Amino acid sequence: MITVEEARTLLFELVSALPAETVPLAEASGRILAQDVVATRDQPPFAASSMDGYAVKAAEVELHAMFKVVGEAVAGKRFDKPVGPGQAVRIFTGAPVPEGADFIVIQEDVDRRGDLITITDDPGTKTNIRPAGVDFTKGTIITAPRRLRPEDLALLAAMNIATVPVAQKPQIALISTGDELVMPGEAPGPDQIIASNTFGLKALLEEAGAHVRILPIAKDTTSSLEIAFGMAAGADLIVTIGGASVGDYDLVSDVSQALGMERSFYKIRMRPGKPLMAGRFGDAAMVGLPGNPVSAMVCGYLFLVPLVRRMLGLEHGLPAFRRAELGEPIGKNGPREHYMRAIVDENGIRACPDQDSSLLSVLAQANALLVREPNDPERHTGEEVLYLPI
Ligand code: AMP
Ligand code: MG
Repeated sequence: MITVEEARTLLFELVSALPAETVPLAEASGRILAQDVVATRDQPPFAASSMDGYAVKAAEVELHAMFKVVGEAVAGKRFDKPVGPGQAVRIFTGAPVPEGADFIVIQEDVDRRGDLITITDDPGTKTNIRPAGVDFTKGTIITAPRRLRPEDLALLAAMNIATVPVAQKPQIALISTGDELVMPGEAPGPDQIIASNTFGLKALLEEAGAHVRILPIAKDTTSSLEIAFGMAAGADLIVTIGGASVGDYDLVSDVSQALGMERSFYKIRMRPGKPLMAGRFGDAAMVGLPGNPVSAMVCGYLFLVPLVRRMLGLEHGLPAFRRAELGEPIGKNGPREHYMRAIVDENGIRACPDQDSSLLSVLAQANALLVREPNDPERHTGEEVLYLPI
């Protein structure tokens, strides 16, 4: 059996970065910028007032100084004559500072009578002018790859970039397998349960940037699985859930291989999630997840999310592990890497008491996977451990 890290390396060999597509800025949130983009203008494009007030010559600014107001500059419409000695231009936030002026006296520091203003309060030394290009200049580069956050979109808009090159979304087909499964909302028979991790995985993978299609549940028969694989056509990644062990009804491996799947590995030295399988399936990569709800989700965090990041062209895409101090001791680990459901807060990290891989209620309470190396000894309160936030 291979390690988690070895499995991830093999998985990465099954995919490559997808090509870029161009989308309107308004639809680019959360997408991965695929090529560097360059600002096409300066911001602000002119020296602009940062306050409502009066544009004057700095050299003339002092308490009790008087000026004659000769015009008005508003955002969107400049005052297009120079400001002379003893003159002021009424100016508003965002308006271009008129030629000849290099100081904005804020309106609160001024008394105005008709066309005359007098500085009545100490105007200080701050000019209240934003120089041209102080935010960014033409040619400023936003480098790819990066996930576009709301802040990035605002910046791109200010740069007058209306469409952006982003990585195509990986198309994922999700196949749940098992005679016992029905979809949420259906009426389960007495021996049936509801397909659950399917929905957790869809959310997880879409959050990572993929587009996920949930296919109809496949029965534990060759023909039903064949139909499901047929319906997955066009996907970049096919993910099956369940049927991956070696029971009489675990047909995913045999059926997929009969259809041409070239297996890269099967079984990993980890808990939960040992019966993980992966390979190349025509133009797609395929990952067969174990059916147990928690195992499937843990494999999602450890393998599928990094795989999606890879396909999106994000550099290495490895899970971002962190460190925390144990809030409570934990016993020694067995021979497999263990990803324990845990809760991390300001008092450190604690493993959840029941680590059974079928317990979604425990997974839903957890906010971390506490990582244990194979044969890790007993650990005491206060010792530092690695975890993956979930
Ligand atoms: P399997 O890997 O098919 O042997 O499934 C292991 C366990 O996970 C069984 O108890 C299944 O009923 C359960 N299981 C399989 N697939 C799902 C699913 N999509 N949602 C919830 N439970 C599942
Ligand atoms: Mg099954």
